[in-house]
Amino acid sequence: MDMSVFDLFKIGIGPSSSHTVGPMVAARRFLVDAGPLDDVVAVEAALYGSLALTGVGHATDKAVILGLMGETPQHVDPTQVDAMLAAAEQQKELKLLGTHPVPFTRAANLLFHKSETLPEHPNGMRFTLKRSGGSVLSKVYYSVGGGFIREEGETGGIDGRPAVELPYPFDTMAQLLEHGKRTGLTIPQMLRANELMRVSEDELNAGVDRIWHVMRDCIAHGLETAGQLPGGLNVKRRAAGLWLQAKGGDVANALPHDALHQVSLYAMAVNEENAAGGRVVTAPTNGAAGIIPAVLRYYAEDCHPSDPVKGVREFLLTAAAIGMLCKRNASISGAEIGCQGEVGVACAMAAAGLVAALGGTNLQIENAAEIGIEHHLGMTCDPIGGLVQIPCIERNGMGAVKAITAASLALKGDGTHFVSLDDVIETMRQTGADMQVKYKETSLGGLAIHVVTVNHAAC
Ligand code: SF4
Repeated sequence: MDMSVFDLFKIGIGPSSSHTVGPMVAARRFLVDAGPLDDVVAVEAALYGSLALTGVGHATDKAVILGLMGETPQHVDPTQVDAMLAAAEQQKELKLLGTHPVPFTRAANLLFHKSETLPEHPNGMRFTLKRSGGSVLSKVYYSVGGGFIREEGETGGIDGRPAVELPYPFDTMAQLLEHGKRTGLTIPQMLRANELMRVSEDELNAGVDRIWHVMRDCIAHGLETAGQLPGGLNVKRRAAGLWLQAKGGDVANALPHDALHQVSLYAMAVNEENAAGGRVVTAPTNGAAGIIPAVLRYYAEDCHPSDPVKGVREFLLTAAAIGMLCKRNASISGAEIGCQGEVGVACAMAAAGLVAALGGTNLQIENAAEIGIEHHLGMTCDPIGGLVQIPCIERNGMGAVKAITAASLALKGDGTHFVSLDDVIETMRQTGADMQVKYKETSLGGLAIHVVTVNHAAC
């Protein structure tokens, strides 16, 4: 499996990795691969399936326009996005990759095919450009979760990069555990050795540390930002107010579970930032981006580690291993297998990471990850109004607390357990395949429909 820790944890913007980050990357890649743009006279983007049904709520329209303008999720300035889009709207024109202007309006050039799904994945996009000589170039891309994209018919390597030979290759947890048994290495040590086939030790450490710093900054910003989230649901940001309340609380009468309350606030802070289109790290997706940062901060601040830098690196490398297995053998896309593949996987990643950072064995790491997924099996994706707000924000708070419980259960045991991680991942895959489409990021079922119905009845 040729995935890297930097594929699972991508620095980008909210609100969605599959509906914002992926489409932005795909739109830009289409133009970069198209060759010279100076004779292009028109560009069209068409969205299908889940991207069309929940695209406006997930800012897919904005992401596609930004990608055509040459922006990347990692480098676009979230504070400038609205101004850039307003200028393009006013001029009825886009500068392709920031250079070549073409006429463009949302109504004419950005199409939503809500009742059509392209064959390879629910998140399909078709980009088309016309040149002055009359030639037409059209390509289909899929946003397959976590910001990963795939061109139609593409198989094999990630983002077209060549595969490397890894010292500890694995497609299953059983294989990874076998390597560990044979060599005596821990899971984070093996992941580190694999990563060093692509980057130097300094680059790896700097990259992983940067991921943690962006996550930490995201929590801090979310904990100090009040107000209302965009999108029209009028959802109030709660993390900042609850944080103030928690910090100003009566210390003498603090309850033991107040520490877990704070963990859920860390997660909610991140997901409020995500919902507001702020800077977040996919972990493994944007919708589930709060769980890993919340558990990491809990580890760094509340577990009093003797070497937090090393512990955070081991946490993230281990979490990445679990995310790779889930992506490889099931999915991390809510549009493909429901929220079990986003919040469930993030919970498993965080649980495994915490066990590794606290010095657990490879079997305890596996046990924690398995518990994290097992108790999210069957969880649907039904965001109200197509916005990554309800249930997503609170759900991350719950996922973070469950991750700590999973880690604790695993650490108190000796690593032996009944259900293997590989079995639970396969169960998640099959459960997702059986799940009705209305529960897979379409906003056609579950809370999305019930709450809309209630509101209409009340009007
Ligand atoms: S319900 Fe879960 S999978 Fe769906 S958008 Fe929210 S976090 Fe993502």
